[in-house]
Amino acid sequence: MIEIRGLAKSYGDHQALHDVSLSIRPGEFVVVLGPSGAGKSTLLRCINRLIEPTAGDILVDGTSLSSNRRDLRLLRRNVAMIFQQHNLVKRLSVLKNVLVGRMADLSPILSSLQLFPEADVKIAMHCLEQVAMSHKARNRADALSGGEQQRVGIARALAQQPKFMLADEPVASLDPKTSRTVLNYLKKSCKESNIAVLCNLHQIDYALEFAERVVGLSAGRVVYDGAPAGVSGDV
Ligand code: ADP
Ligand code: ADP
Repeated sequence: MIEIRGLAKSYGDHQALHDVSLSIRPGEFVVVLGPSGAGKSTLLRCINRLIEPTAGDILVDGTSLSSNRRDLRLLRRNVAMIFQQHNLVKRLSVLKNVLVGRMADLSPILSSLQLFPEADVKIAMHCLEQVAMSHKARNRADALSGGEQQRVGIARALAQQPKFMLADEPVASLDPKTSRTVLNYLKKSCKESNIAVLCNLHQIDYALEFAERVVGLSAGRVVYDGAPAGVSGDV
């Protein structure tokens, strides 16, 4: 369970988030919907402390996390993130890219030698199967299409075995058909692994199609929190 309490963020004198509170249950697929500039990206980046919130608390399983190193390690262990640009390492194989998601568990010496324990390779291959990419495990990452690369990005995040997945506009650079495929794999694989997802989208049609719950964000405030069926066009 992830709880966000009273989260606020200001950039100088511009307040991008105002008093955001949310609880997300294990396995829940939540879409954060809002126009560009609403604060979606700021919300996700505050949750995993890529940026420091101005106020508020983030609790993982009841424990409030500060920015000290121990708490940050715990947070990074439990929270995976997917970006619009998947940032795969181009020259490496698909499988090695996914093994990067296991980094926290791997010996630094073994991984610098690119020697990976069998058990980690097994987990990575399973994650690739979840997004139907295991047949390309030995291909170079830069030989894949955009949609395939994003699926590998999802596999890399799954390999971290997180409780919580943050996806910041994961399909913004993909065509509609590929976007639906990627969102399907994201939802299905996180369901299988009981991972809660907070996924930023600006397209209302994808939100209605995939979300179990929609959080509408407008000018940094939560203006809707509920079933997709209750969403109107003006969030
Ligand atoms: P969204 O992801 O919904 O497009 P953002 O979280 O990126 O929204 O931005 C929310 C608001 O905060 C916008 O007005 C944006 O210009 C502003 N903002 C975002 N990042 C910064 C930053 N690093 N410095 C100053 N203002 C920022
Ligand atoms: P998106 O809308 O996809 O989140 P943006 O173009 O708003 O992306 O932001 C891209 C980068 O620029 C982010 O790192 C964000 O923090 C930063 N940024 C956004 N708005 C501002 C701003 N007004 N001043 C400074 N940095 C900003």
